[in-house]
Amino acid sequence: MGAIAVLRWQQYLQGHAVRGYCIHPISFPSRFVMTASNRLQAQEVLDIARRQWRGTCTACAPFASSGWNSFPGTVSDEALQLLGALWLPGDAEPTLEEHRPPGVDQWSAEAPIALHFHPCNRCQVWACKACGKPFLRYTEYGGYYEDRRIRELDPGRVDLGEPGA
Ligand SMILES: [Zn+2]
Repeated sequence: MGAIAVLRWQQYLQGHAVRGYCIHPISFPSRFVMTASNRLQAQEVLDIARRQWRGTCTACAPFASSGWNSFPGTVSDEALQLLGALWLPGDAEPTLEEHRPPGVDQWSAEAPIALHFHPCNRCQVWACKACGKPFLRYTEYGGYYEDRRIRELDPGRVDLGEPGA
């Protein structure tokens, strides 16, 4: 099963690496609306995390954060590659329930990466193009704002517990 997931994933990467076909320059903010078409199950996300976990390289150092950091506003995300997402547009709305110890902020490094709970259940999985280090990205769209965050996908923090379990 793991081997199949890897193959599917690499094919997806190849297709996704095509850039620059548009004759109009792509404005910076619009790069963030990239939509994943590759659905990842929680277990696949954990497999990616285990396989690719490592320290940052110079390319992905700006994104290094053990908790959810705001996406650095002055840094392009060109160094990162979209692998897939836990939730795709059109899917049923995932739970807004959170899973973290009392008193722990949901954006802090102490919050587990609980893939079946908010906000991880709406995340995209990205990897550094240079070294493969995996990241989670989460974007919240409000009426007048976009909250873009990124977090290292540390397998040691992943929690596969499900709501109601
Ligand atoms: Zn890297």
